Amino acid sequence: MKIKPNRLDRGFYLYQEEFERKALEVLRSGWYVLGEEVSNFEKEFAAYTGGQYCVGLASGLDALWIAFRILGIGEGDEVIVQGNTYIASVMGITINGATPVFVEPDEYYNIDTDKIEEKITDKTKAILVVHLYGQASKMDTVMEIANKYDLKVVEDCAQSHGACFNGKMTGTFGDIGCFSFYPSKNLGAFGDGGAIVTNDARIAKDVKVFRNYGSEKRYYNCVVGTNSRLDEIQAGFLRVRLSHIAELEEEKKQICMRYLQELKNDSIQLPKIRDDATHIWHQFVIRTQKRQELIDYLNEKEIGTIIHYPIPPHLSEAYRYLNIQKGSLPITEKYADTVLSIPLYNGMTEEEQTYVINAINDF
Ligand SMILES: *Cc1c(COP(=O)(O)O)cnc(C)c1O
Repeated sequence: MKIKPNRLDRGFYLYQEEFERKALEVLRSGWYVLGEEVSNFEKEFAAYTGGQYCVGLASGLDALWIAFRILGIGEGDEVIVQGNTYIASVMGITINGATPVFVEPDEYYNIDTDKIEEKITDKTKAILVVHLYGQASKMDTVMEIANKYDLKVVEDCAQSHGACFNGKMTGTFGDIGCFSFYPSKNLGAFGDGGAIVTNDARIAKDVKVFRNYGSEKRYYNCVVGTNSRLDEIQAGFLRVRLSHIAELEEEKKQICMRYLQELKNDSIQLPKIRDDATHIWHQFVIRTQKRQELIDYLNEKEIGTIIHYPIPPHLSEAYRYLNIQKGSLPITEKYADTVLSIPLYNGMTEEEQTYVINAINDF
């Protein structure tokens, strides 16, 4: 049996008729950018998260850098972020000229909140929290620290749509929550897309103006903005997907519960779930010292895997200019050397799940 790490086509076929109907509806409407689909999606997504406002953007990276731009964070400022994130989180900071200051992750792969305070300097302006792999970070402590030092909080929710900490949804704790709707995310479009969520009317308005060349009224530009608009057709697809999000999340959760119960192999470590957090299982990430052996073995059985992520941002070529030496973030680096994401997607059959479980248990 051939099993890929992800199958986006399955997610399409689950609601094929609805997606096709929506595509035709938008195509026939004659309105393709910033119309009713986008404004309806923004309302529905804000309501879903429990946030006051949502503004659709062209990607998750745009959501991040525009968030820092609107908060006025740039050159000379420092932003605290966990070391083991996708590099886009860090680019959201550095595009504005600000400097990332890395903190080690905890055993749940999120920022270790016990290690934040020691990294705060008089240049620190914000904490960027990444709810990695779908699990909410320890937001009570993050907010306490932010309040104590008067720091902004931006949440990278590209992997955590719907994940909660103490019953409150990620993206609604800090000043701005940043979302990606890249096709492989838990709430995915059929192309690029992103959004910010905020409770601050001023921020929402500023982002809305900024995404559209800095104009509130057509051809009257008040700031130098950008073009970062969520397409009508993608917003339409996202509305379809959002209407099914509960069942989509439940399905992934069921698969992961099977993995947690049935995977039994002494050479692998299973993911842990915090008591006060929920996990929406963007990825099911295991850890093993024998990673390459396991990858090769699973490849032979035609089971694909992915490493999220093999090179931590501080060691990537792109950030060589930060001059952070290998060995300076040992936990981050250990995770990069040992993590492995096994197949997980909506529409994964029981037979496929069983095949993966048996293969890993036989390793
Ligand atoms: C996917 C992702 C992003 C970037 O989103 P894009 O829509 O691809 O720009 C940012 N941060 C994290 C943690 C991500 O997983």
